[in-house]
Amino acid sequence: MIVVPFDTRKQLNDHQKMEQILAFADEMDRVPHLLLHSCCAPCSSHVISVLSKHFDITVLYYNPNIEPYEEYLKRKEEEIRFIGLYPAAHKLDIMDCEYDNDRFHELVKGMEDLPEGGERCFVCYAQRLEKTAATAAKEGYDFFATTLSVSPYKNSAKLNEIGNALSAKYDIAYLIADFKKKNGYKHSIEMSAEYDLYRQDYCGCVYSKRDSNCYKCRQMSEKMQMSQTDIICANVTG
Ligand code: SF4
Repeated sequence: MIVVPFDTRKQLNDHQKMEQILAFADEMDRVPHLLLHSCCAPCSSHVISVLSKHFDITVLYYNPNIEPYEEYLKRKEEEIRFIGLYPAAHKLDIMDCEYDNDRFHELVKGMEDLPEGGERCFVCYAQRLEKTAATAAKEGYDFFATTLSVSPYKNSAKLNEIGNALSAKYDIAYLIADFKKKNGYKHSIEMSAEYDLYRQDYCGCVYSKRDSNCYKCRQMSEKMQMSQTDIICANVTG
């Protein structure tokens, strides 16, 4: 396994650690191979723009959490389209794999009502990262990583904790990152507009879709109440 020697003279945050890994990758005598888990084209846009200067990248599309199946296919097709369009400095391609949705539901059983960002999401991160680490080790990649930390709704510290544990388990280097730093999320929105990428309005699982729909309903009902209040006020003052 490749071991990146971090500068231990100061306390490094996750973004600084990533910068040291990228500098290490640039010093290697060949372009290193990275297996990059991606959840969707918009999140991968910024991450690929950063990493493709340093690595040959294969994107692993393993997202058994996404439902319904039509939505999973739509996001996957958009990922394939983006990869075909992006002018990467090095090799960039995609590896497809099984949907595994039953396994996702087994793993999150009993956590269906937890809010987004809680324990259910940590299990969801771990399922996707474990597949990535195991595949990267089996296929002889140098590093594995995920795009997930670009989202402000994802817990980067937890993602990196899981990634580091899997790195030890599968004996493969993990690319520590917090891609939302340095305006990463904003850049992903800009790139989504530039490449006209489909941006979904819920995270992926049926529970996040349910919660997103509830939020939209609440907003609509608040708006309707406000406009009724406006009408009443107009009648009173008119
Ligand atoms: S909200 Fe997102 S991260 Fe959390 S379990 Fe659902 S799909 Fe996974």
